Amino acid sequence: MSNSKVRVRFAPSPTGGLHLGGVRTVLFNYLFAKKHGGDFVLRIEDTDQNRYVDGAEKYILDCLKWCGLTPDESPEVGGHYAPYRQSERKAIYREYAERLVAQGHAYYAFDTTEELEQKRKEIPNFQYGQVYRDGLNNSLALTTGEVEHLLDKGVPHVIRIKMPTDESVHFNDMIRGHVSFETNLVDDKVLLKADGMPTYHLAVVVDDYLMKITHAFRGEEWLPSAPIHLLLWRYLGWEANMPEWAHLPLILKPDGHGKLSKRDGARLGFPVYAMNWLDPKTQELTPGFRELGFLPEAFLNLLAMLGWNDGTDKEIFTLDELIDSFSIERVSKAGAKFDFEKAKWYNAEWIKKLQATSLEPQVKHELEIRGVEVTDDAYLVKVIEAVKDRCVLLADFRQQAGYFFEIPAEYDLPSVQPKWTDAKTDFFNELILKLSSAEVWEPVQLEVIFKYLVEEKGLKIGDVMLPFRIMLVGGKFGPHVFDIAALLGKEETVERIGVALEVFTA
Ligand code: GLU
Repeated sequence: MSNSKVRVRFAPSPTGGLHLGGVRTVLFNYLFAKKHGGDFVLRIEDTDQNRYVDGAEKYILDCLKWCGLTPDESPEVGGHYAPYRQSERKAIYREYAERLVAQGHAYYAFDTTEELEQKRKEIPNFQYGQVYRDGLNNSLALTTGEVEHLLDKGVPHVIRIKMPTDESVHFNDMIRGHVSFETNLVDDKVLLKADGMPTYHLAVVVDDYLMKITHAFRGEEWLPSAPIHLLLWRYLGWEANMPEWAHLPLILKPDGHGKLSKRDGARLGFPVYAMNWLDPKTQELTPGFRELGFLPEAFLNLLAMLGWNDGTDKEIFTLDELIDSFSIERVSKAGAKFDFEKAKWYNAEWIKKLQATSLEPQVKHELEIRGVEVTDDAYLVKVIEAVKDRCVLLADFRQQAGYFFEIPAEYDLPSVQPKWTDAKTDFFNELILKLSSAEVWEPVQLEVIFKYLVEEKGLKIGDVMLPFRIMLVGGKFGPHVFDIAALLGKEETVERIGVALEVFTA
């Protein structure tokens, strides 16, 4: 394989929203491809019509766009190996299934659903495989004449792989090392269904071959399928072209007990999907990282660190840095516990790291969907600069930046009223006059005016500083109060003092 161009694929089934583990699989594929100057292919594995969910493919494409993990080939942009949707490749697969039957590695099975259900009732842990296949309705058990007759009559049938007896199949996983399986323990999986659609097992092998995939990275849950795929590569005569495999470790619940599921997210109050997913059948909304206010840079960064590190303590990586440092061998075999607090830490670090100008469109959107109108983008950039270090999620900008665009709707009165005095009223009335005639409107000058007046009035700075902040902001938060006043401008600051004074003294 070493001479061929690296080609990897992400091959999701469009059955619902995209779990963060799915995005991590995309990311590792993407990093590996880009690191080796290769291609990243998106293939939609939609051969199971029963599990197909409307809108799921678009959702997956949108997730990839949001994350900036752009496929080189996909159903959307096409490519040399199109089509990239397996349902549109239906006609391709039968030939390979028939070839396996002709070679004796697969067989026709005519059993009806009812017959199989009956078997499952009669036999605990029934598996369609070497123990029972001879007593069932298939081309291994029937005579050639009977089989021909059934085929001629057009009796619905599937094609199943014939798992060999007493063999062990093995391969070298890029993360796990040597892995082996006993064929006796694997059942005869269906390869081609009665409707002529391939199952995942056949389609994944045929398409990885036809699309010249060199490396296949997928979730650990697919490891039990590896022996079937290995045998198909061998039986179809393509073993020399088989991709190298890596089965990525699971993302675990915060307590480490089992795979992190959608339900854990709901139970523990954090998202598990990349973006909001609205199930078209049930109308159930599963929240996503994007809508909660995660930056795509932070989301990718935190996913990369779930099960991988570069061998140092470095935790913050740009996508380019990840491409540079990534190696699949450094992905751990053990599952990675998901820690939502740590996830938020990544986001806060990324909000700090990014320039206010690059955050601006996203913050503007956040403010607007939360009812804050932004008309001056340059002003917003300055506001972001002033408050971004206080925000963990993009949604936090509503509280941390909203008051720069609208006079406080509410004040933290319990923090000011009990200690209010006439001297304070006098101070703020005087402050209005002093500020109104200020010639320079910069934080340092404003602070000088303020402190000078405090002294003149014989007050203590601590008496009036907090009320001043609450007048401008509404609450006890925000950056340096003179920075806030400087940004708000003279007219607005003076107005806010006046309005608040009336409320405080009412
Ligand atoms: N279609 C499979 C899925 O939905 C892909 C597994 C693979 O990458 O081989 O996850």
